[in-house]
Amino acid sequence: MSLFQENFDFVRPTSLDQLNDLVKEYQEKGLEFAFSAGGTDVIPKLKSQPSQLDKFISLNGLQDLNNVKIQGKRISIGALTTLSDLASHELVREHLPTLATAAHKVASPQIRNRATIGGNIMVDNRCIYINQSSINRECHDPCFKADGNVCHLVKSARRGDEILCQARFVSDTAPVLLLLNAKITIIGPNGARTISLGDLYLKDGIDSRSLQVGEVITTIEIEIPEDTSLHYEKLAIRNALDFPSLGVAVRITGNNLSIALTGLNTLPGVFHANSSNYDTFNDMVSAISTQAMDFAKTYQQDFFPRGYRKSMIPVFIQRGVTSILKDRQ
Ligand SMILES: Cc1cc2nc3c(=O)[nH]c(=O)nc-3n(C[C@H](O)[C@H](O)[C@H](O)COP(=O)(O)OP(=O)(O)OC[C@H]3O[C@@H](n4cnc5c(N)ncnc54)[C@H](O)[C@@H]3O)c2cc1C
Ligand code: SF4
Repeated sequence: MSLFQENFDFVRPTSLDQLNDLVKEYQEKGLEFAFSAGGTDVIPKLKSQPSQLDKFISLNGLQDLNNVKIQGKRISIGALTTLSDLASHELVREHLPTLATAAHKVASPQIRNRATIGGNIMVDNRCIYINQSSINRECHDPCFKADGNVCHLVKSARRGDEILCQARFVSDTAPVLLLLNAKITIIGPNGARTISLGDLYLKDGIDSRSLQVGEVITTIEIEIPEDTSLHYEKLAIRNALDFPSLGVAVRITGNNLSIALTGLNTLPGVFHANSSNYDTFNDMVSAISTQAMDFAKTYQQDFFPRGYRKSMIPVFIQRGVTSILKDRQ
């Protein structure tokens, strides 16, 4: 039996004012609604998980949010920019080449042609027990993320635990954006606000984003960096198509080394170190690698053994450092 719910209305506003009016109307009427941009994450989810949606709002008509531009010393990326456009955009390749690389590493060409950067930083946390076809999911009792009362991954988890669900964070572009100190602008029923991208992410695998109901990300802003010493490395079963089993972004600025991680916990990990606190540069790299390994919660979630994923963290950090230092020579 398919659980795909077919009885909801599809709406496609073409301006932010229209979007705001629709959200206000649905909230006043107590209707359930959800957003989609490229739909590459949310549509498969709707097909496999029962939902009580009344309205499905496509953001794809907001074409004013499909652009990349320079504003003073900042690059502003509209949330509806596709990952293909981002990866090939002249301004991005010139000033933020590692962001272009990370966008290019997402999924496959067909998916990147639809998928947006807004959808990528919002992509839902994943777990092998929930991201399944409906037939497969029927073999298990519903877990917490499916409004049930068990966790198949962490069998001891109980309601009331600080982190109920360990579904992992998997965005490929977020680690790079976090090291670029990206800010996001959000609009919603209570007006507009701008926050650091890091403040979007929460610890629980179910409620993993800090957006309020009805809020939408409109733009991502990044100060143009003076140098582009960044590197992103991804471990995946197949380079085309698969989510990151592990992704590490590395940045070196002056005496500072920063890293950001994806695929290893319910939210991205970001760590900073300053060489003045260590006897040698290698000591700093080792210390940050230890922090990253402590942060990683590598449950058995994909085809790589969990120990292997953990052991690749320092390897990827070292590769990033070596690549940046080599480029500088
Ligand atoms: C086979 C396959 C492989 C994949 N591989 C990868 C991978 O390697 N790496 C990776 O990172 N992802 C991967 N994905 C997931 C997904 O394709 C990407 O993350 C994509 O960027 C999501 O963008 P979208 O526009 O399609 O999002 P959608 O599916 O439209 O939306 C995703 C979520 O974000 C919300 N959302 C979208 N835009 C906004 C906005 N502007 N403001 C507020 N909320 C918003 C939606 O409501 C929804 O909850 C894969 C997907 C598939 C099907
Ligand atoms: S980690 Fe989350 S999604 Fe996975 S089985 Fe447990 S509750 Fe379900």
